[in-house]
Parts: sequence; C-alpha cells; structure tokens
Amino acid sequence: MRTNLAHLLQRTARHHPGLPAVARGDSALHDFASLARRVGRLARGLREGLGLKPDDRVALVMRNCPQYLELLLACWHAGLAAVPVNAKLHPRELEFIFADTAAAACFVTADLAEGVATAARAATGPARIVDVDSADYGRLFADASLSLVERDADAAAWLFYTSGTTGKPKGVVLTQRNLVAATLAYFSDVDHIAAGDAILHAAPMSHGSGLYILPHLARGACQVIPESGAFEPAEIFAAACRWPGLSMFAAPTMVKRLVDFAAEKGADPAGLKTVVYGGGPMYVEDIKRAMAVLGNRFAQIYGQGESPMTITAMDKAAHAVADDAMLASVGRPYLGVEVLVADAAGRPLPPGGIGEILVRGDTVMAGYLNNPEATAKTLAGGWLHTGDMGCFDERGFLTLKDRSKDLIISGGSNIYPREVEEVLLRHPGVAEVSVVGAPDPEWGEIVVAFVVRRPAAAVHEGDLDALCLDHIARFKRPKRYRFVEGLPKNATGKVLKTELRRAL
Ligand code: AMP
Repeated sequence: MRTNLAHLLQRTARHHPGLPAVARGDSALHDFASLARRVGRLARGLREGLGLKPDDRVALVMRNCPQYLELLLACWHAGLAAVPVNAKLHPRELEFIFADTAAAACFVTADLAEGVATAARAATGPARIVDVDSADYGRLFADASLSLVERDADAAAWLFYTSGTTGKPKGVVLTQRNLVAATLAYFSDVDHIAAGDAILHAAPMSHGSGLYILPHLARGACQVIPESGAFEPAEIFAAACRWPGLSMFAAPTMVKRLVDFAAEKGADPAGLKTVVYGGGPMYVEDIKRAMAVLGNRFAQIYGQGESPMTITAMDKAAHAVADDAMLASVGRPYLGVEVLVADAAGRPLPPGGIGEILVRGDTVMAGYLNNPEATAKTLAGGWLHTGDMGCFDERGFLTLKDRSKDLIISGGSNIYPREVEEVLLRHPGVAEVSVVGAPDPEWGEIVVAFVVRRPAAAVHEGDLDALCLDHIARFKRPKRYRFVEGLPKNATGKVLKTELRRAL
C-alpha cells in the first residue's frame, strides 16, 4: 500500500484553508493553506538544498516551537524519516542517537545547539546542522513545492527513542501505517476533535504531545505552541481562554501541577476541552482531586513508544461514571488493537489473572532500529511484549501492576509498590511518593517508601503506618520511610526507581 502522512495536511488545507493551523502563544502564524505551501517548499529545500534522499533520517533536537510541525510534515512530504529527540538528553545520548540513526541532517533550536555541536563532533554526527531560527533555515524554503513522495505503508516515518529508565535507549521504528492507525485510534477511543479546536503543545513534541499533532491536523484543529515552550500552568489557562476547545497531553506530574495551580490561585477552565494524561501512573487520589478542581475534562491513555499512545484508553464519558477500580485502571483496549494478559507461556489469562501485557495491531512498531535480538524478543510470536504486568477485570478494564523489576518480594509474598503508593497518597500532607524494595537478610526484601511532603505539611511515620494498617495487609507496610525533597525522574518525568534503590 502506498500512502503518506503528509496527505493529511493536504486534505485539511483543501477542506479548511482559512482556519488557523499553527500559533505561538496568542498569535496565529499560518492557516492551513499557507502551512501546506510552506511544507511543500521546505520539502523541496530538504531534498534539493540539503541534498537529502528518500529514507534519509533527519534528527529534530528542538524545544517545542512552531517549526517542529512544518519540519515533521516536510520530512514526510519529501519521503524522509524524522527522528524527534528529547530536548533534555545529554550530548553523549545524542551522540548515540546520531550514530544509531546515521542521521544525515539535524535541526536544532539555538538553546540546544551547543550540545548538538558537542555530540556531532564525533565522526558519526550528521553532516548538516541547521538552526531553525537562522537565515539558513529561511533559505531552505524553495520557490516551488516538491510533489509529495508516495511512501510504502511500512516505510519508517518516526524513529522514537525509548526514554530508557535503564540502559541504552532503543530506536523504535514507527511506520507510516503505525501513525495512521494511532491517528484513527484517537478518534475511536480518546476524544472527538472539531475543526477550529486547538491542541496546546506544553509537553515535549518529541514524545506524546508530538504524536497528537496528527489527529488534530487531520481534523483542522490549530497547533498552539506556548510562548514559554514548556509547561506553565498560568500560560495554559490563558491559552484555553484564547483558544477555546483546547486539548493537551500531560504526564500525571504535569496534571498535578495544573491542578495545584488551579486550586491555589483559581483558574477558569472553561476553554479547556480535554486533558489527555498517561505515560506513567496516575493515582486514584490525584485524578479524583483533578476532577473535583477542574471538572470532567480528563481522558487517559496507556501506551509505550512501541505502540505509541495506543494500548488502552479511558475517555471523558468513562471518567464521569468511574468508580475507584476504573480510575485505578488504564481503561480498555482501543478499537482495532488486541490486548492480552498472558502467562509466561503466552497463554491468555482469565480476568483477575496477573501477567504480561501483550499487544497486536497496526499501531505496533515494525521493530527496533539496528537491534534484531531485541526486536525478536519484544515481538516474539507476533505480539508486542510490553514488559508491563497487569490484569483485566470482568468489565474489560486493564489495571497495570508494577513492572516485574519493581515488584517487591518480602518473606516470599509479592508486593506491588503501586498499591502501597496509592495508600500513602491518601495522606493530605504527601505530595509524591515512590516505594521500592531494599535487600534484607531476614525477609529477602523490605518495603521502603520515599516520601515528598507538601510545603509546610507535617507528615509523621506513625500516621503513614496507621493509614497502611487501615487499607492494606500488614506485610505490605513500609518498614522504612525516607523523607526527601524530590524524586529522581528521567527526561519524560518517570520516577527512576533504579536510582532510589541505589540510594538505599
Ligand atoms: P514510553 O515508551 O517512554 O512512553 O514509556 C511507556 C511506559 O510508561 C509503559 O510501558 C508503562 O510502563 C508506562 N505507562 C504508559 N502509560 C501509562 C499509564 N496510563 N499508566 C501507568 N503507566 C503508564
């Protein structure tokens, strides 16, 4: 099958030429007709100006900015594969990605240019580096458009580097087909989008937020880049007034900041249509508070780079009627995505059985770049082995259990850290918590809780222990508490339990 994601833009440019397509802060920059022209001209510049050829890889080491969007689309239009790179990576990690992808060109924002230059000094760095705010970038726009290069549905469109809470990142090869499937999945299970709506890219466009470019583009919604280029609650509420019908993707830690801000300072959420959260655990207490403060504006997704944003979802309607068990879950499988909970032999388990989550469907990656062993292992038997543990309930809701490496085995019993964390978060003075196992000569492992207090809150070990006694089995209670200022997190905001274990 021949296809190209850039057709989505051409289609929207025909249907809604005059609607705003890209904005920075309050100001619309391009409508869909002019965005389509820019993308065609930039695509020609990539091919003829930079000399790139189909299938070449183009690294985007950029903070969120309006150019992100046109570059992604121009890469696809010109038959190239994009490599959106997390802006927070260390030059050594960049060097690895440049070498792994053999990136032929790299686009940077000025603030990241130095790290890119350091990484590119290695022999394997990209030959051409372009600062997107420079005159060189402007000169890439040719006078006439390139005609769109049709692609095979299995051609790589986006090389997505896993955030890697341990070890080296792996390059997930997402194809044209994968991204079309992920786009349609948004409409089937996350939310409706109307022409004239908007999406705010406050979370990194190299990850989840960037993956939501496509469904919004397809429907004629405006892509809004915050002036700050980052996640600032005050700016987000202001953007929702300027661009009503606003959606956004947010990691659970960001949702928390948004809610804390609204609770403290008061904020008008009227224009905020939908906050899609995911990428890490959302605790029941936190989502309940979020809904109490901001209303029924939340949808959840569970996915991973290997099936981007698209394993299970729970939309706003489900949140509105959710009981605690539903809120603790990650929702139900997307339409068209098969999800199994399997035992070690790959046999499906009945509801209630805990096993590894396996996924099959058009959203699942083609494989890892340059890593046939990891690909064969992860896609064994045609199923994506997520490495996540979970169980379905009778209603089809999937609840994640902790990854097997995070599971604590104390006195021969399994303890899932998440269960203990959910209880500790019920204490009003606890802002964040993470539970890990520490080696212990008597028990094998004991439960240790790292606790971050809310500002000026008094939290005592005795209160936390009493809370645990009220809610969970005695053997699951933390035997030790460590009060800390903050939790170590990776570049996408996931708590690094490996570092906590190392700190014991
Ligand atoms: P990444 O590939 O960096 O996006 O990380 C994906 C991992 O994040 C998944 O395998 C899960 O372990 C975790 N994750 C993603 N979405 C959720 C969610 N809604 N709730 C809990 N954990 C999640």
